[in-house]
Amino acid sequence: MRAVVLRQPGGPEKLILEEAPDPRAEADDVLVRVRASAVCGRDLIDRRGGFPMMKLPMILGHEFAGEVVALGPGAATSGFSVGDRVVNLHLPSCGNCRRCLAGETILCERAWQSFGHTVDGGYAELVAAHHRALVKIPDTLPFEPASTLMCTAAVALQALRTRGRLSLGETVLITGASGGVGVMAIQVARRMGARVIATTTSPAKVDALLALGAHDVIVSKDGTFHNEVMRRNDGGVDLALELTGSATFNGALRSLRRGGRIVVVGNIETEKLAVNPGALIVYGYSIIGSGRCTHRDLEDVIQMVGSGEILAQVDRILPLAEAALAHRLLADRAVVGRVVLVP
Ligand SMILES: [Zn+2]
Ligand SMILES: [Zn+2]
Repeated sequence: MRAVVLRQPGGPEKLILEEAPDPRAEADDVLVRVRASAVCGRDLIDRRGGFPMMKLPMILGHEFAGEVVALGPGAATSGFSVGDRVVNLHLPSCGNCRRCLAGETILCERAWQSFGHTVDGGYAELVAAHHRALVKIPDTLPFEPASTLMCTAAVALQALRTRGRLSLGETVLITGASGGVGVMAIQVARRMGARVIATTTSPAKVDALLALGAHDVIVSKDGTFHNEVMRRNDGGVDLALELTGSATFNGALRSLRRGGRIVVVGNIETEKLAVNPGALIVYGYSIIGSGRCTHRDLEDVIQMVGSGEILAQVDRILPLAEAALAHRLLADRAVVGRVVLVP
């Protein structure tokens, strides 16, 4: 098969399409013919070598959609059949650890088959995936938008609904709102009955964010949007969805009303930052991390897209050979939503 194999960490030029051995459906795996693979901000960190547990050489890509072409012996009774159309989760849960047995599969203590980190991902014509890492999609949902939903809308739904406990009538601040997660988080939060305030560094993206459903958009290049948030929302916001990381974290924290929650999902620059513990104590803030989604989250957003309640945001579709260009576009913040690669 053809695949983009990362052999050494580095710049986009390290992403070269080459001939690679076909993966096989062994043990509990399902072999998927990839029809679309979305490019995530995490892929840029992966490519730079930002995750110490990552194995090399590695085929990047943890957001793919495709068709089942073969089943391993352990996947024969998994409910999947050849021809099924599927999308993936970040990694399969074990189903047996304390967390899994408590229904908290995203906190599985034995999950290790992480696409693009420890097992090959979707920048390829074929990918072998554990059957518990797959979810079926309906025939009416094309592969390109389908590939973008897991790490954007479903991750946003998990962060807002489960980790952030967002409820009807609350106000939520979404930082870095024009990114892949942000453009879906705006729609999901709106669907959940929240008032949505979005931040962006680009004045040119304001109209697009308002069109997606944001009630208010604040343009800030230096992360000091909290004064404006406070001015426009007496007392601050109930929940902040932090999609950028160090550049906006303290601005988001200072935008919270007393007792507010901040859910950290994005970490683009991967820099450490200083937090004032006194503010946490005095104002009763909660800092919560969230990075994955469950089968149910993904099934729920597939349903929402199918019924037209939210719209997948595909900025453009490129051939797999253009993976380096896709990374450059993302690094330059030249896209709204996801770039999708097709083999
Ligand atoms: Zn992702
Ligand atoms: Zn588990």
